[in-house]
Amino acid sequence: MDQKTVWIGTNWKMNKGPAEAVAAARALAAFRPPEGVRTFVNPPFTSLKDVSAALQDSSMIVGAQNMFWEDSGAWTGEISAPMIAECGASMVVIGHSERRQHFGETDWTVNLKVRAALKHGLQPLICIGDTLDEFEFGVSQETLARQAKIALHGLSQEDFSRVLIAYEPVWAIGSAGRPAEAPFVSQIHTKLRAVMQEITGPDSTVRIPLLYGGSVSQANIRDYVALPDVDGVLIGRAGWEPADFMKLIDSVS
Ligand code: PGA
Repeated sequence: MDQKTVWIGTNWKMNKGPAEAVAAARALAAFRPPEGVRTFVNPPFTSLKDVSAALQDSSMIVGAQNMFWEDSGAWTGEISAPMIAECGASMVVIGHSERRQHFGETDWTVNLKVRAALKHGLQPLICIGDTLDEFEFGVSQETLARQAKIALHGLSQEDFSRVLIAYEPVWAIGSAGRPAEAPFVSQIHTKLRAVMQEITGPDSTVRIPLLYGGSVSQANIRDYVALPDVDGVLIGRAGWEPADFMKLIDSVS
């Protein structure tokens, strides 16, 4: 098998105002990741345009953290896929568990967003994840299969080839979270790989990248990336400082 492409990105969440975001982008602009590694950052909307401009000639992909599914209209406070594309970003995170938990996002709205993103040429990074209850009841796999099937419903083979999935256990995210153990992630991803084949069809050759996210740090990043069915990581806190983010990326080579 060819060496896999490894995706490493950091979601800044609701951190960094425009000035701080641009300073961080400039610090990342000259960075060259190791061969086979694709890198991305997800700044807040308020700095999407400036960060995209600062990283235009770099190898860093820029993605928004969320979007709405309509192109325009009376949707106060929302941001559409064409607006994100016009800012120069090419990716968008969809269905992050913080959005599902605090802003009422459902599998159905995730699907609407994924389709709208693809229609406007954005690469969706779809987050799926089990809650602590689901994990403890042993139904993580069922939850993840449902979330993935609905998120990817109605997509073409061409669409499948443009999406990324991140498995982010809700119980592993943030300072109150604990990182999922690598053997558990391995098990989940192997089963998810089979779910992906079911979704894309038995004859499909599309391999949807499966990332892991949740308390990824310098202490565990290599363990995740080494797993055959893990195609990268989505990092929060540990990647917010540009120097730390670059160090994390370099550590997988
Ligand atoms: P964390 O966040 O790395 O800070 O746990 C991960 C995420 O929410 O993607």
